[in-house]
Amino acid sequence: MELQRAGRPIDDVIADLDAKRAHDARWQDGRTFGMVYDGGPSVHEVAERAAMLYLHENALNTKAFPSLGAIQNEVVAWTAALLHGPAGSAGFLTSGGTESIQCAVLAARERGRAERGVHAGEIVVAESAHAAFHKSAHLFDMPIHTIPVCNDWTADVDAMADAVNDRTVLVVGSAPQYPQGVVDPIPALAALAATVGANCHVDACMGGFVLPFAEMLGRDVPPWDFRVDGVHSISADVHKLGYAPKGVSVILHRSKELRRFQTWTFDAWLGGFYGSPNLQGTRSGLPMAAAWAVMQHLGVDGYVELARQALDSADRMRDAVGATDGLRVLGDGRLHLVAIASDPASADPLDAFALGDALARRGWYHDRQGPPDSLHSTVSNGNAAVIDEWVADLAECAAEVRGMRAGDRSTTYSTVD
Ligand SMILES: *Cc1c(COP(=O)(O)O)cnc(C)c1O
Repeated sequence: MELQRAGRPIDDVIADLDAKRAHDARWQDGRTFGMVYDGGPSVHEVAERAAMLYLHENALNTKAFPSLGAIQNEVVAWTAALLHGPAGSAGFLTSGGTESIQCAVLAARERGRAERGVHAGEIVVAESAHAAFHKSAHLFDMPIHTIPVCNDWTADVDAMADAVNDRTVLVVGSAPQYPQGVVDPIPALAALAATVGANCHVDACMGGFVLPFAEMLGRDVPPWDFRVDGVHSISADVHKLGYAPKGVSVILHRSKELRRFQTWTFDAWLGGFYGSPNLQGTRSGLPMAAAWAVMQHLGVDGYVELARQALDSADRMRDAVGATDGLRVLGDGRLHLVAIASDPASADPLDAFALGDALARRGWYHDRQGPPDSLHSTVSNGNAAVIDEWVADLAECAAEVRGMRAGDRSTTYSTVD
């Protein structure tokens, strides 16, 4: 395959691109539970107009583009306030949750080296922690201890304590964790990290733009943010339930001193001072500006309403799963994630993956995850309008696959293509 010599007219090019999308997930219909989070028509419009303004801008150098410096500072400050960051808390925008986590892991390693003389700092995580921690451990060459979760899917603090030692630089909790959507016992994890002077990072990539609003809605939200003593850093993805388009997340630290451990500067080449807030070089201004615009457009009231739609929809799904013989929801069922699994206590357990195949034939997209084999649903505002249809299809699909077992047992969070 080679790029053809002659260029083509704009309309032809765009028509081709549009045609390529024929088999992509149909998130616009609300039938995809994850990956794209739809805040509705006015959120699209404000994001698209901001994106057009900032399509070409580069946040590499905020002296050249001071507006992007201001956009970053404002989005970070608004997020810090939502997460009860103390005066002096500080952060940066990154390209996504994985990069925010990488920054937190790097900061923990560097702080361990600078303050405790621990060169080969170690990480302690629950098995439910996001794969991005393992990727970070791989990239930064750090040993990582992975500890099985409790029966309720939360981090097992006592078991994690056995893995903490004088080389531990980072203890991780999630709010909530992705697979079952439960919030880890953050105060106990922060206290555990403090016993050896390690950082405690709270991964709120999934919950950062839900939990504050769930609390405002009067829902029961366990302590997880900077109000918990001993939480050093938090990651929160604006491109998930913050409803911004892809490519933007916030990494926050309790203080500027702690933030310093994630930054890197260099002056010993021929190109001049290189200051690096995160892992990128050239940084698109587009996602940063779109996030700023979406947050301004929604305001806290807008987010509360979107969170209500997502949480109410998740409740409806849980009720429907609970009423289906042979199925169960994993976890305590409070937030916007719904993991659907076979119920071993039933006389007639249903196979989650066979159910997923039947739902897929009706146009529903759930990630297949495990262990244990289960269907993942990240429920957001975009799903609310079709939840009645999903509930009806669940009943039909359950009847259709009773007694069947899917041959394909593979899971799909992401791909290497
Ligand atoms: C999505 C997610 C991440 C990773 O974020 P990306 O934006 O996909 O890189 C990390 N942790 C949790 C809990 C997540 O849900």
